[in-house]
Amino acid sequence: MTKACKNYIDGRFVDADGKDVIEVLNPANAQVVGVAPDSGAADVEAAVAAAKRAQPAWEKLPPIARATLLRQISARIRANVDRLARRITLEQGKVLSLAQLEVAFTADYIDYMAEWARRIEGEIVSSDRPGESVFLFRQPIGVTAGILPWNFPFFLIARKVAPALVTGNTIVIKSSEETPLNAIDFADLLADTEIPPGVINILSGRGASTGHALSAHKDVDLVSFTGSVRTGINIMEAASKNLTRVNLELGGKAPAIVLADADLELAAKAIYDSRVLNTGQLCNCAERIYVEKSVVEKFSALVTAHMKATTYGDPMADASVSMGPLINEAGLKKVSALVDKAKASGAQVLTGGRVADRGKGHHYEPTVLVGCRSGMDIMSQEIFGPVLPIQAIDGIDEGIALANDSEYGLTSSIFTRNINSALQASRELRFGETYVNREHFEAMQGFHAGRRKSGIGGTDGKHGLYAYMETHIVYMQG
Ligand code: NAD
Repeated sequence: MTKACKNYIDGRFVDADGKDVIEVLNPANAQVVGVAPDSGAADVEAAVAAAKRAQPAWEKLPPIARATLLRQISARIRANVDRLARRITLEQGKVLSLAQLEVAFTADYIDYMAEWARRIEGEIVSSDRPGESVFLFRQPIGVTAGILPWNFPFFLIARKVAPALVTGNTIVIKSSEETPLNAIDFADLLADTEIPPGVINILSGRGASTGHALSAHKDVDLVSFTGSVRTGINIMEAASKNLTRVNLELGGKAPAIVLADADLELAAKAIYDSRVLNTGQLCNCAERIYVEKSVVEKFSALVTAHMKATTYGDPMADASVSMGPLINEAGLKKVSALVDKAKASGAQVLTGGRVADRGKGHHYEPTVLVGCRSGMDIMSQEIFGPVLPIQAIDGIDEGIALANDSEYGLTSSIFTRNINSALQASRELRFGETYVNREHFEAMQGFHAGRRKSGIGGTDGKHGLYAYMETHIVYMQG
């Protein structure tokens, strides 16, 4: 049973210090679906103190014992997939099948990170002196903070918690004010495990108050943040007062390059999938499409056919829809303004292009725009909605140059049957990730990291795991 409107601190559900609450709206119909604490500085203080008290004993446990406890969480998640998925759909708006996938993936991710327990390695380094041994130990950083966005809210808890815990850190999670209820559900599952009190603490609250207090706290040793560039900068500023480490997973404006020799049907389907998944609210999915001139008409027609066939609406009222609403009114206004501005600058609408007529929810029509040009905001700013802007290019060199000309550098893709073009793109695209002939979506054993304003550090796989550890060199004279 969910402990509504409470934080989870030191192994217990507790009331927040302040009296204010956050009302959570269902983005599909703007109805209130729950309330969560609006935590203040005293709540942050209590959570960080609990994490600090718990950390030394947690670090002393052998990694495999920590992994066994982590697996208790994944087992609890697997036993509650449908209930958890319904909660995510209700407060975030993604279709139920995607929410179920998110929950199942979360359990798999925890197990994947738990498997690293026996694989964390140090190094023995050669010495300049006779009789000396030089050891590099990997040690936990200490108390970590995980500050979350709303787009994959449940999975993002595990993406922070699992690598932090298996490496011996403790953590304070702050959920997004848009989607705090699934994090309270996560805390509910923790209460049924043997994870010691204080190892995982979960707070609800707003960014400027709770998030800021956590980022600026002197006893937080690492802030791992996923969210927008603007907030990343704020967090870095707050963390800088204590020289606290930051790991920032920020926004994206992913280019997809489609060359004339590509399998156009495959490209259209992969790019379409990438754009409507989670109603286009993904940091890593194709946001600007560069298509070689000779095939731009054919490609645009193929992708428009997919967009036109997309059913959308309230996923709780109609489980058959393939796309839900945008997260909130601000998101809807942003998408709408970008499309209107592109139209005014000469882009043509092949389908969509308007706020959808679906009652009080935040629904936008699946949209394809052609005739887009560099310099239009729609080709440079993050849209975060079901809109595909297409620009014609002369060939691969222009495609790569336009792709790289962006303040974002998270993911990118190329569609081609020519291995030399694929290799050229692999060498020359300046992004953390490149996908060749497939949709944009990373694997847990990879490394998800952005360049330029898309972030600092990274997550997933071995390199993401070691982001939660620091080194200790010991010189031992025998
Ligand atoms: P956001 O930056 O508005 O909010 C994210 C979190 O930061 C929330 O919990 C919020 O309360 C908190 N926050 C806000 N101001 C703060 C402050 N001053 N100090 C501390 N915390 C603060 O982002 P969002 O709208 O929730 O998420 C969408 C953004 O996240 C998009 O830009 C998207 O690209 C990005 N994103 C990136 C990745 C990635 O892996 N790179 C993954 C998912 C989402």
